[in-house]
Amino acid sequence: MARRRQIFEGKAKVIFEGPEPGTLVQYFKDDATAFNKKKKGVITGKGVINNRISEYLMLKLGDIGVPTHFVRRLNMREQLIREVEIIPVEVVVRNVVAGSMAKRFAMAEGTPLPRSIVEYYYKSDELDDPMITEEHITAFNWATPQEMDEIMSLALRINDFMIGLFLGIGIRLVDFKIEFGRLWENEQVRIVLADEISPDSCRLWDVETDKKLDKDRFRRDMGGVEDAYQEVARRLGILPEGGPSDMKGPETMQ
Ligand code: C5P
Repeated sequence: MARRRQIFEGKAKVIFEGPEPGTLVQYFKDDATAFNKKKKGVITGKGVINNRISEYLMLKLGDIGVPTHFVRRLNMREQLIREVEIIPVEVVVRNVVAGSMAKRFAMAEGTPLPRSIVEYYYKSDELDDPMITEEHITAFNWATPQEMDEIMSLALRINDFMIGLFLGIGIRLVDFKIEFGRLWENEQVRIVLADEISPDSCRLWDVETDKKLDKDRFRRDMGGVEDAYQEVARRLGILPEGGPSDMKGPETMQ
């Protein structure tokens, strides 16, 4: 494949120019960071698995009418996406108390929430992604009130759908982070789901044992990180029994 121009390098992904105008190629790395890059490491095979899991979830969400940036998977580590203007807000949906919420309110991890809670964080490495409200988002013109209504309603639909999908494979969707972008189509702007959804951005606990099957294993030095990511892919039915090595070999573009 011809060398592509790199547009942006993030912590876990690289974005390249796409083959057609209005498209980009999203490359998934094995690099892992936590606590705003204070902790760095490599999770072998993570890029391959996250590419697959994110493809799977974006396609399923597309099937129920959630607009996404996903076009198609190109190979083991790359997917073709539509170029969008990323809204600089991380949308976190929580069903169970964990992580920063457990810390903020001194609540036990694992406490179920009476209803799902949506939180917003400003995407800024320099500021450590501070928590914000819709007031900040609209006052600073990061998104309009109409866009926020759409984002909130999409986030809750995504949550409802993913709770059921993961429950079907014995996994509790504790919380997750998603990002949205603006897509221009014939002079019209649409809000679409962007970035990725993977064990890097979700908390996924085994329903029976509460075993963590996500990036917390890396953040908290729990070991078994690679196995946990593979377990999620295997339960979703998208990883051959032998693990990512069975998926070797470049796949032809469809
Ligand atoms: O750390 P916290 O508890 O606020 O994270 C909530 C959820 O958002 C977790 O699933 C975490 O993996 C995800 N997250 C993320 N990227 C961030 C912050 C949180 O994917 N920068």
